[in-house]
Amino acid sequence: MITIFVICARKTQKNLHSNEILIVKIIMDFKCSVGECLESITWQCDCPEKLKFCLTHSKEMSNHSRLKKCHTVNIKEKCLGILADHYKNALNHFESDCIKLTQEMIYEINNCLNDNWNYLQKKKKEINDLILSEQNDKADTIVNWVNTLNILQREKNQYYLSVRQLLGIDNANIKIVTDLEKLEDNLKILKKNFQESCEKINGLEKEFINSNENNKKLSDELEDTKKNLAQENKYRFSVEEFKKVLSNLNGSDGFKIILTRLDLQDFLPIFIEGNKVIDKALITNDNNYVFICEI
Ligand SMILES: [Zn+2]
Ligand SMILES: [Zn+2]
Repeated sequence: MITIFVICARKTQKNLHSNEILIVKIIMDFKCSVGECLESITWQCDCPEKLKFCLTHSKEMSNHSRLKKCHTVNIKEKCLGILADHYKNALNHFESDCIKLTQEMIYEINNCLNDNWNYLQKKKKEINDLILSEQNDKADTIVNWVNTLNILQREKNQYYLSVRQLLGIDNANIKIVTDLEKLEDNLKILKKNFQESCEKINGLEKEFINSNENNKKLSDELEDTKKNLAQENKYRFSVEEFKKVLSNLNGSDGFKIILTRLDLQDFLPIFIEGNKVIDKALITNDNNYVFICEI
């Protein structure tokens, strides 16, 4: 069993009765004993005459005291002290409540500490039994569990804030709570902004990846097109090459295959559908016409 002790040292103050306050007020209302003096009193002597003097007539007070061999006291100071005690007493009840509430909190923390202590004792006993029965792996599990707790790393700021909110009474405490709340709010906003920025970056990354993929696709398509064009060009004749091909051709069918590619006007109906036999084909020097001779 562990207990946290808190010692609250508080000066015990005497409770004043309302009669005492009334007497103090009456004394303070007395006027100076010298002639017509209307000033409030400061001194009072202890002889049966109980003379009272103001601050101005301190000399008269000394003369009287010497003559009557009496003592004087600063009655004003005494009365003001009693009055101050009366006002301070008004705070005593609240002070007791503060101590009571604090003790309740300490009691709660103590309970929690004792629960932890009992639980750990139980676990220690469990480890003992496990080791004796050679179940080291199960003991390892308990040790691993306790290693993951990191109790000192736990978030404490919220607790401190709650304690201040619950027990604090002065402006400094209220300010601390307000400042902490503001910081918490700012932190929340910063976290939210950070998260939004991260999401935006992720979105941009995805767009970048997609755009890269599209670029790659377009680049591949361009390469394919280039290859196809190169392939097509391979089979395309220049006019000179074509003239050469025509001059080397023998046989009507050969002329028909080559000339069909040129898509010449009236060639198909006359020579292919008309089943003509081509003997020769020539291209004019201006390269605009093809002469076809049939047999
Ligand atoms: Zn006197
Ligand atoms: Zn006086």
